Amino acid sequence: MSNTIKSINPYNQELIETYTLETETQVFSKLKMADKAFNDWKNEDIEHRTQLLINVGNILEERLEPLSKLITLEMGKPIQESRAEINKCIFLCDFYTTNAEEFLADQIIKTDAQESFISYDPLGVILAIMPWNFPFWQVLRFAIPTLAAGNTVVVKHASNVTGCALALQTIFEDAGFNPGCFQTLVTNHKVIEKVLEDPIVKAVSLTGSEKAGRSIAKVAGQHLKKAVLELGGNNACIVLDDANLNKYIDTIVKARMLNTGQSCIAAKRFIVTENIYDAFVDKFTAKVKTLKYSNPLNEETEIATLAREDLATDIQKQVDDAIQKGAKVVLGNQRDKAYFAPTILTEVTKDMAVFTEETFGPVAPIFKVKNIEEALELATNSKFGLGTMLFTEDTETATEHISKIPDGAFFINEMVKSDPRLPFGGTKASGYGRELSVEGIHEFVNVKTVYIN
Ligand code: NDP
Repeated sequence: MSNTIKSINPYNQELIETYTLETETQVFSKLKMADKAFNDWKNEDIEHRTQLLINVGNILEERLEPLSKLITLEMGKPIQESRAEINKCIFLCDFYTTNAEEFLADQIIKTDAQESFISYDPLGVILAIMPWNFPFWQVLRFAIPTLAAGNTVVVKHASNVTGCALALQTIFEDAGFNPGCFQTLVTNHKVIEKVLEDPIVKAVSLTGSEKAGRSIAKVAGQHLKKAVLELGGNNACIVLDDANLNKYIDTIVKARMLNTGQSCIAAKRFIVTENIYDAFVDKFTAKVKTLKYSNPLNEETEIATLAREDLATDIQKQVDDAIQKGAKVVLGNQRDKAYFAPTILTEVTKDMAVFTEETFGPVAPIFKVKNIEEALELATNSKFGLGTMLFTEDTETATEHISKIPDGAFFINEMVKSDPRLPFGGTKASGYGRELSVEGIHEFVNVKTVYIN
């Protein structure tokens, strides 16, 4: 097994950097450092902790341009979207700076006791395993609340964004955190399993594929450690006859094409009622055709290559399967190395991989259904449960369907998106646990009952 990681620009296959994997000894000495840092960090008052979060936000603002460029070079995202990602991280820092104290304050509960309350104590060192698709946002939405709660963290980032992973560590150091509070581990899966098994690590948060989720949950389960899993999705986007296409078509296209389709909460199955179906296909196709593809460093770029060549191979297999089973290609289905053209498929059926599996790229299968009942039946027919979106002008009737959606989110007339103020997470094969909001900061704490008589 190679002991190096190559960071490769997916747009032109140029080598950006070669990194050497840390030895097991180096990894475990970082773990000890994290444990040692925890003993000080847990005793810091919340004002000090939030001051350091303010510093992280300020550094992100100062380094907006170089960090955005780094994201674009390593995983190929259009530069405007990389900037939006960093700006969202700044908002996240701001949100927890403002709210962490209240979220972590003792909560008085009236009982028979003279005094009873809930306190929220940190757990210790928390391991994070993170993906490349939003290389700053995914890490920070875990790390900011987890650190604010008094834990320390070690992060195993996706190997193709090792530059981003190391830049994150530098940001925390420059913000004034003790170096043991946030550390990046440059290592492989085998060593990470051993890290998770080590008694120093108290819990794990993983964002990534279902396969990685199952394998990490197994190790966490064997060692009775808490896990938060944010895995894949196959979100349905339902469009009803009365939907306002003129108003929402841009949102609907963005729901699929943001980050060149590489988002767990992207719209991956379009389910459209029959009277609006033709108009929807026409408008959707017309808008997708306008999306500009070029070097992702160019300001006007809206669609890019995928983050790695093998991801385009996976997408090609899924599209080939659909075509072989009778789907019609309305647009796209062209491939060049890591590039896969935005592709629209009609005449799709439930036995196709584009329905049963997650498509992590710019592929839009469009289903025709008779009515809302049929739409909901198809939408909920998925092993995943991240979110569902519904477009209709009759929002009152739409709200009657809330309880029929077995997902972590239901968005009406909006794409499913994450927001620090709202909890984020899934059900079924999309994982368990929640990130963001008050629920996110309470995932990695000991919710302690105190009873005084
Ligand atoms: P992976 O799940 O393989 O990678 C995500 C992270 O988990 C990476 O840091 C990876 O490390 C690590 N990892 C994977 N397997 C293990 C393991 N057994 N033990 C320890 N760490 C592990 O995603 P991919 O990058 O391969 O993408 C493939 C698919 O994953 C996509 O097509 C999509 O379905 C899904 N995905 C979902 C995301 C989401 O936000 N929900 C984000 C990214 C991907 P390393 O890079 O070293 O392999």
